[in-house]
Amino acid sequence: MSSIMQANTEHLYDTPAPEQLKKFQNFLKRVDKRVILKQLPDLHEAAFEKIDCLDCARCCKSYSPRFKMPDIKRISKYMGMKETAFIDMYLSMDEEGDYVSKTRPCPFLGNDNACSIYDHRPTDCQRFPYTDEDVFFKRIPITMKNAEFCPAVHDVMNALIAK
Ligand code: SF4
Ligand code: SF4
Repeated sequence: MSSIMQANTEHLYDTPAPEQLKKFQNFLKRVDKRVILKQLPDLHEAAFEKIDCLDCARCCKSYSPRFKMPDIKRISKYMGMKETAFIDMYLSMDEEGDYVSKTRPCPFLGNDNACSIYDHRPTDCQRFPYTDEDVFFKRIPITMKNAEFCPAVHDVMNALIAK
């Protein structure tokens, strides 16, 4: 990436101002949900044309997905491990009874920000940050938490407010 391109895109990774987050929260509460559901796929695509997860990885560094049983079966098989050994080595149970990674950053995140199990990663990772699905406006507390650190959510948020 050239330095000019970096200069043009690095602001995308800035943390949003509290006032902007408040504005967005109010927007989500009163928005016509059928209208934004139609707008989200294009805005999601536009955000990820500008934002490269390999330049970010904030989700993988600071949070864990849930590892549901189908995820555990798929990933342990890919790694050639027994499911119980995989659980013992990598996972712990959170207060809601879901398996999550024992460590942060995620143990499958490489130094280059690439995921070593990308094609087999948990469904939560595949869906994150929910910018192309109805979770985006149905689970407002989750979206607001994600908006604090995920540049893609921030970008979609700004585009929706500007419409
Ligand atoms: S926080 Fe958002 S932009 Fe950053 S790596 Fe995760 S999904 Fe991609
Ligand atoms: S499994 Fe892969 S995509 Fe999911 S949090 Fe870990 S490194 Fe990130």
